[in-house]
Amino acid sequence: MRIEAIDIYHVAMPLIYPWRTAYGEDAAIESVLVCLRSEGLAAWGEAAPFAAPCYSPEWAAGVFHCVRQWLAPALIDQDICSGDALQAHLAHFKGNPFAKAALDTAWWDLEAQRQNLPLHRLLGATRDRVPVGADFGVMDSHDDLLKGIAAAIEDKFPRVKLKFRPGWDLPMLAAVRKQFPDHTFHIDCNSGYRLSDVNLFRAVDEFGLAMIEQPLQHDDVLDHAHLQMAIRTPVCLDETVVSLDRARQAIDLGSCKYVNIKPGRVGGLTPAVAIHDLCREAGIPCWVGGMLESAVGARICAALAMLDNFTYPADIFPSSRFYTEDLADPPLELTPDANGVPHVQVLDAPGTGARPHPERLAKLTLAKASLPG
Ligand code: MG
Repeated sequence: MRIEAIDIYHVAMPLIYPWRTAYGEDAAIESVLVCLRSEGLAAWGEAAPFAAPCYSPEWAAGVFHCVRQWLAPALIDQDICSGDALQAHLAHFKGNPFAKAALDTAWWDLEAQRQNLPLHRLLGATRDRVPVGADFGVMDSHDDLLKGIAAAIEDKFPRVKLKFRPGWDLPMLAAVRKQFPDHTFHIDCNSGYRLSDVNLFRAVDEFGLAMIEQPLQHDDVLDHAHLQMAIRTPVCLDETVVSLDRARQAIDLGSCKYVNIKPGRVGGLTPAVAIHDLCREAGIPCWVGGMLESAVGARICAALAMLDNFTYPADIFPSSRFYTEDLADPPLELTPDANGVPHVQVLDAPGTGARPHPERLAKLTLAKASLPG
């Protein structure tokens, strides 16, 4: 398929309430949406690296400029016949996985539309719905958190993820475990600790968690291997795994027992599927993470999550959790299965089935570029 035109949008989507993590607080989610046009089709991709380079070295305004100045010009007028071919056209640009993901995910939506297939089928998945978990950021008090968790368990979320950072760590976890001795929990440290904190994680071992997500530095594999040897709780890598090579190194070193895969962080769906397959062969279960994307990006995550080695409930959120009105239509909703467990279900439509709403896109756009200009 020849890529005839590319539109790039840098958007800011106001949250209902701020999202607090180990690295700070976001009042809006900044994201980059890309529209690829070919053969009368218009396909959408998204990468949401946040406004500041605090989750990873990339940030939304930087991703917008990288796509506009370097990546999109390398694809325009090119005949791209596979995700691997797209990645090969971008391979001489170092790093910048979120920027590459904005284009890669749009290409997969384009190809799925061209083949008249739902995206998850094109990716090779046979399921059409999977369970999702509940997540809690840093809150004002333990009481607020405990009330929220009680509601999530009442709503039958099969596992609960807790943000964990200095000042909101062991006492918080002790309060949660005391109140909910049997439910499945894991913590996400967002790179907030160092290997010298090993005794803190030995103490975490006592709480019987499903995993500890990204305890150490965002670009580390070796210290995570040392930590995994020193504790019983499985380590899950998130920020560290930015490519297939990094995943292979982490597996070879024994740095983790789980991998969180986000299409944006790894450079798109092409490397996401390759990492999923590599982990399956190595006996490492995976789960899909979200970046608070619009329904366009959330639908891309949902399609990926249907692959069979995603065995731990996903971080895919209903639009109403964070946004008064989603930038895209249709908004993502969760549906309970026969046991009442919340699931995300793929749409019965070619591609992702999600599109930005034109007026909301115009209202929330900070910058736009079009190729050919
Ligand atoms: Mg994480």
